[in-house]
Amino acid sequence: MQYFKNIIFIFIFLNSFQALSKNNFNIHPIEVSKNIYVFMGDNNDVNPKNGGAISNTAFIIGTKSILVIDAGPSYLYGSKVIEIIKSYSSLPIRYLVVTHHHPDHSFGLSRFIENGTKIIMAQSEINRYVKYGNRLLKQLKNLIGEDWFIDTKIVAFENENIKFPINVNLGGREIIIELYDQGHSEGDLIVKDLLSKTIFVGDLVFNERAPTIPHANINNWNKYISTIMDSNWDYLVPGHGKLIKEKEELLLTKYWINYIDKIAKKAAKNGMSPAEIFNKGIPEPLLKYKLAKETWIRDLPLLINKYEFE
Ligand SMILES: [Zn+2]
Repeated sequence: MQYFKNIIFIFIFLNSFQALSKNNFNIHPIEVSKNIYVFMGDNNDVNPKNGGAISNTAFIIGTKSILVIDAGPSYLYGSKVIEIIKSYSSLPIRYLVVTHHHPDHSFGLSRFIENGTKIIMAQSEINRYVKYGNRLLKQLKNLIGEDWFIDTKIVAFENENIKFPINVNLGGREIIIELYDQGHSEGDLIVKDLLSKTIFVGDLVFNERAPTIPHANINNWNKYISTIMDSNWDYLVPGHGKLIKEKEELLLTKYWINYIDKIAKKAAKNGMSPAEIFNKGIPEPLLKYKLAKETWIRDLPLLINKYEFE
């Protein structure tokens, strides 16, 4: 009898372990500069292995409080990030800057609200998060499974009618948060840490990976990248991909968005369908980008459609 009990126990143990490990984010922050850490997102599309954690999340520790940049894809992810930050510092996590409303950056935010953290996000992007959040959440659940999104909720929250730029002091370090509206999204936020000259630019910059453009104004976006290139920083943390130290690396994003824009405008003007362009294949210079094919196929028809109606 004892033998069977043991077997049953082991069976239950293994099953519960599986359930736990399946939905556990295996993330570890890397130190970019003293007291600045980044959880690097998986530079792939959302899949059942990465649980949607494809974008970078960062935190900055001052002498009085902590600021987090981006909330990740879910409640579970937000919980993990908070747990890890608490193992680094007992200071309060006072601010969360959500760079824009896309799910990989915003869906963990309700966990931070529970934590008493103040959320900083552009009003236009809060509106989109609230308006489209539940639909996007449903799509994600269908794509990679409900379990990754346990307790993830789209919540309306108070915005103190914030005017940008915002200055916050974490104790011994001053942070500036700037709004770049109608660029990659309707309202992207950039975070600058003056002490370390580190800048966090969200999805205004992608590194090595094809930038996504569903809500973009490419003209403005292109100008914003130039502005970022000209500003004073030593380290740049993009929304996706590795840390950037050289300004030239920003040209990758610029090149992709201008190229896809040019092709889309030409197609709209000549009445070409996306299928006709896809038959020609992806242009050679773009093939080196990670997720080039997926992004090209998804974004090009959207852009052509947009220009046909302009
Ligand atoms: Zn993103």
